[in-house]
Amino acid sequence: MIKNNGTRDDALPRRGQVKEVTSLANPVIKDIKALSQKKNREASGHFIAEGLKLVIDALDTGWHIDTLIYAISAKGKPLVDKVAARVVAGGGLVLEVSEKVLSSVTHRDNPQSVVGIFRSRWMPLADVRPKKGETWVALDRVRDPGNLGTIIRTADAAGASGVILIGETTDPFALETVRATMGSVFAMPVVRASVADFLKWQRGAGVNVVATHLKGAIDYRKPDFAARPVVLLMGNEQAGLPDELAEAADIRVRIPQQGRADSLNLAIATGIMLFEARRHLLALDDR
Ligand code: SAM
Repeated sequence: MIKNNGTRDDALPRRGQVKEVTSLANPVIKDIKALSQKKNREASGHFIAEGLKLVIDALDTGWHIDTLIYAISAKGKPLVDKVAARVVAGGGLVLEVSEKVLSSVTHRDNPQSVVGIFRSRWMPLADVRPKKGETWVALDRVRDPGNLGTIIRTADAAGASGVILIGETTDPFALETVRATMGSVFAMPVVRASVADFLKWQRGAGVNVVATHLKGAIDYRKPDFAARPVVLLMGNEQAGLPDELAEAADIRVRIPQQGRADSLNLAIATGIMLFEARRHLLALDDR
């Protein structure tokens, strides 16, 4: 929730209008900066995404933009003006800000010239009813924002249907994660579930849960990925999958390795699994 409680000239932005803001002390800017913390994102239900293309793609796919911020230097660029007009027409707030303000929001020295504040979306687990041909990724306690962002992007590229986050995980709406998704956060439904809720759901969902495990006895290319909808179950970066999840899966597979590395990076392993699981559905002439 971005408040409209400013008092000075600089601090009076209203919805449905464009306002110039140059002060770091502006209360709206302060609220937006607070979104860099998970607790504030959760309390307000909003997150930050950077980049003009990404903001346009998000608007085109029906995402609600609460506030649009752009650098004063970007004013007059046709695409920026067009997107600002769309946000104003939709009742959103548009702020023209100095580079200094933009850097403070994105924590970058050379920020993108356009930033959007969006309402977060979580898909309820009960609404996930996979159909044949669908692939979902389930991540156990994923910790690294870069890994999660890369997985969301890769899942989108592979044509997966969504990502289920099990247990205590990093936030898909953190700035670093959103950056790593390269816009796919707007295309991939994200779901969160406790271990108990996930196990209950998988029993009734008619899915083939393929767990990946360093002790898996089956080669990852062997399962029949076409018969039922697939859930690829991936373990935590440090600890791998707990027995409770691994044993409840339909099958435990391993990606054979050579060389000295103990294991693959989680995002790389997920990418390999996704493209193997969807091999029968992917063809070069698909696009
Ligand atoms: N020390 C952890 C362990 O013992 O499982 C390593 C975890 S690994 C970095 C993170 C996750 O990536 C694993 O839980 C698994 O889901 C997947 N993974 C990595 N390498 C794999 C491989 N060779 N075969 C199957 N899954 C793999």
